[in-house]
Amino acid sequence: MTNKLKGIAASDGVAVAKAYPLVEPDLTFEKVNVEDSDNEKTRLDDALKASEKELQKIRENAAKALGESEAQVFDAHLMVVNDPEMTDQIKQNIENNKVNAEQALKSVTDSFIEMFEAMEDNSYMQERAADIRDVSKRILAHLLGVTLPDPSMINEEVVVVAHDLAPSDTAQLDRNFVKAFVTDIGGRTSHSAIMARSLEIPAIVGSKEVTEVAHEGDIVAVNGIQGTAVVNPTDDEKQEYIEAGKKFAEQKKEWNKLKDAETVTDDGAHFDLAANIGTPKDLPSVHDNGAEAVGLYRTEFLYMDSSDFPTEEDQFNAYKKVLEGMDGKPVVVRTMDIGGDKELPYLDLPNEMNPFLGYRALRINLSQLGEGMFRTQLRALLRASVYGELRIMFPMVATLQEFRAAKKIYNEERQKLTDEGYGVSNSVEVGIMIEIPAAAVLADRFAKEVDFFSIGTNDLIQYTMAADRMNEQVSYLYQPYNPAILRLVKNVVDSAHKEGKWAGMCGEMAGDQTAVPLLMGIGLDEFSMSASSILKTRSLMKKLDSQKMQELADRALNECDTADEVIALVEEYTG
Ligand code: PEP
Ligand code: MG
Repeated sequence: MTNKLKGIAASDGVAVAKAYPLVEPDLTFEKVNVEDSDNEKTRLDDALKASEKELQKIRENAAKALGESEAQVFDAHLMVVNDPEMTDQIKQNIENNKVNAEQALKSVTDSFIEMFEAMEDNSYMQERAADIRDVSKRILAHLLGVTLPDPSMINEEVVVVAHDLAPSDTAQLDRNFVKAFVTDIGGRTSHSAIMARSLEIPAIVGSKEVTEVAHEGDIVAVNGIQGTAVVNPTDDEKQEYIEAGKKFAEQKKEWNKLKDAETVTDDGAHFDLAANIGTPKDLPSVHDNGAEAVGLYRTEFLYMDSSDFPTEEDQFNAYKKVLEGMDGKPVVVRTMDIGGDKELPYLDLPNEMNPFLGYRALRINLSQLGEGMFRTQLRALLRASVYGELRIMFPMVATLQEFRAAKKIYNEERQKLTDEGYGVSNSVEVGIMIEIPAAAVLADRFAKEVDFFSIGTNDLIQYTMAADRMNEQVSYLYQPYNPAILRLVKNVVDSAHKEGKWAGMCGEMAGDQTAVPLLMGIGLDEFSMSASSILKTRSLMKKLDSQKMQELADRALNECDTADEVIALVEEYTG
């Protein structure tokens, strides 16, 4: 097995640090007959105490990193550890069956889990089952003397190594300690990669085998710009990575000089450079990187960071914070996009064969299950609209009927708020994301009814190429420069312009340095990307001539057969 890994470059930067495997340890054990029940009960008590202490610490860390509401999940876990009904039953089981504590713990917690899970339609009970499963694992780990990894407990410089990182794990990574992460699976547009860029943590995803190669105590050198890593590098290799890190830091310093500069090309054409955010906490990075707007606020993190549906007031406060924080600059807020790889523990969604093609985003919001939460979100947004320049967009729109249904609900809530005496801004624009090929093809029709488009290429490319964005086996089909994608993008931009509307892009393609010259030539109005990509994009645009880029785009659209040919053409024009 090689110690050199190649994966998908997911977030720029270089780091060398100790591996922190975020991998579940082996928790298997044997059932043993034990005569000395008292000793087993003491072992159990010790494990319960240690688990409680650990959970308190995790709760404290989560409250600091993610806020009180996220930390409340751990209150539920603490209640389970301290539940005498359960712990007494485990002790009785040890006594009556003369078994080891591990076996008694498993028998009792399994029966509790089964009982809660049998209460099918009750999501509260399902959550209790999940809590007991988590806590039982923690107690078992203590009985077996192994440590459960936990991202919030990291307190020294490390490279996190994982099979995959759920968005909730990624949100807990403290960039003061987590110097980089490397995963086995995932693609450039999987949410762990997107979050790494917004946290500015160097990252490689889809390395296929990092969890097999890198273990606790190993040193890992990571280059997130090239997507390469070495486990236990030689001194020379280590030096090579350190030098690459220095070079990147110098480059960043150069880009930083453009923080307050306008985004204009060499021949004076202007483009808007906006940032993608997931929470109001991302605002400092938006300003530090000189963004001219927020082009995508992914509101689902508000739902995911909470143990129950966020109230209208919770949401109003978050939206107000972002609008005020942007000081009159436009903020495009996307209504929640739950589904796909983003789950909500308190929303009972069905298991699906193809979640990315399933019940997701606006599809949930337009159904009976999600309409109430949609109305609450729209009310919170409209109430916040008086604090800045709000634009609202709906994700995953496939048909005009869906847009019309969503707009109808929007208009109803707007009217209700006005009737209730709330102030609502008159300049709120309502647009859609173009993520589904059907909408991209029919953009001329949509353009008559929407105020703007924002092209979500992460999904648009996966649907057009029929290649799961989470699956590294087919990541070669993530081809932003494929002429098929460029033609769809051009159709969307031209259709918007024909109706006097604007078109932006908030998928990762908008910050891709090979795609940017093409998109400039196609006439995209707004480029929204991870804040950390803004300054390098501004620097690139300054060097380019807009007329020349139009010629480049025309040639790419009319003369190229493949993505490789397009890349070669871009190099010819920008090289
Ligand atoms: C997209 O699909 O391009 C997009 C911006 O949305 P998300 O990545 O959140 O699915
Ligand atoms: Mg999307």
